[in-house]
Amino acid sequence: MSELRQDLVSGDWIILAGDRAKRPHDWKKKTKRIKAPKNTCPFEDLEKSGNAPIELFPPSDDWKLAVIPNKYPALIPRVTGASERRVGPYSTVDGVGHHELVITRDHEKNIPKMNLKDATELFRVFKHRLNVLSQDPYSNYSSLWHAWGQSAGASIYHPHYQILTLPIVPPDIRRSFEGSARYAREHKKCVHCVMLAYEKKHKKRIIYENAEAIALAPFVSKQPFEVRIFPKKHFSHFEKTSDKVLCGTVDALAFTLRKVSEKLGDPDYNFFLHTAPFRDANEYKMYHWHMEVIPKTSFLGGFEWSTGIDINTVDPDEAAKVLRSNKKR
Ligand SMILES: [Zn+2]
Ligand SMILES: [Zn+2]
Repeated sequence: MSELRQDLVSGDWIILAGDRAKRPHDWKKKTKRIKAPKNTCPFEDLEKSGNAPIELFPPSDDWKLAVIPNKYPALIPRVTGASERRVGPYSTVDGVGHHELVITRDHEKNIPKMNLKDATELFRVFKHRLNVLSQDPYSNYSSLWHAWGQSAGASIYHPHYQILTLPIVPPDIRRSFEGSARYAREHKKCVHCVMLAYEKKHKKRIIYENAEAIALAPFVSKQPFEVRIFPKKHFSHFEKTSDKVLCGTVDALAFTLRKVSEKLGDPDYNFFLHTAPFRDANEYKMYHWHMEVIPKTSFLGGFEWSTGIDINTVDPDEAAKVLRSNKKR
């Protein structure tokens, strides 16, 4: 039986077409990842490749993490601000923003290969950069994402994490925020906290849980093996999160990425952060920051483009079972 499911926050619909699905282990990638050699990697010698760092951690020649400007930025910082203009019936805003990369010193060590201490340190750097960038009066939102592999959008093999600030609030965040605010008005509760409570009671879609965070396959998963990671305590702004919560959330993310890699045959994937915009903190109190992991197992087809409805062929109950299991496949 197929089923249409509606997202509680965004109002989006998906089609869960379980019967058409290959069995979960058929999703396992059969081809091996092609690694780029170190001698052609632009992140091995930052000086030679003209990537002057913005910050190094620790700030010495022995740095382990570096923040560098993106050489091909989508938006460019400017001190004069982002002016809005009309072009006939259309709206435009100047492309003002900061586009940075956070890179590891190590050519190989992505999050699944890091220990918890190093992975948490990486997220402390993200948090620090968001706090710095939030001071720019023309940055209103910061997007933070990672692409692992070419089909996820990475042009360079060496692990790198992107931060791009925007003068506007992106449409997905706005819809997610509006959905959260609407639910809070009607039910006097955070929609994400309500979902977490239900999922915890139900257990079917939980992948991993520690004292601070929870990883689950969303009831309305748009993509096969999509995972969401939430801090358990309701909080709106990633960059103001306590170290303890951050560490717990990173632990849940790292567990998820290790399982994705192990159970699905090291597929390409994206993960990204959804957090409240920098300004108007009070207005966004109802938001619950989280991370999303999307393994690249399928591509949008004509139906998806024509309707905005994704067809997912893996039941999230089944996805959670695969990703939390310790059995080798
Ligand atoms: Zn490298
Ligand atoms: Zn909440």
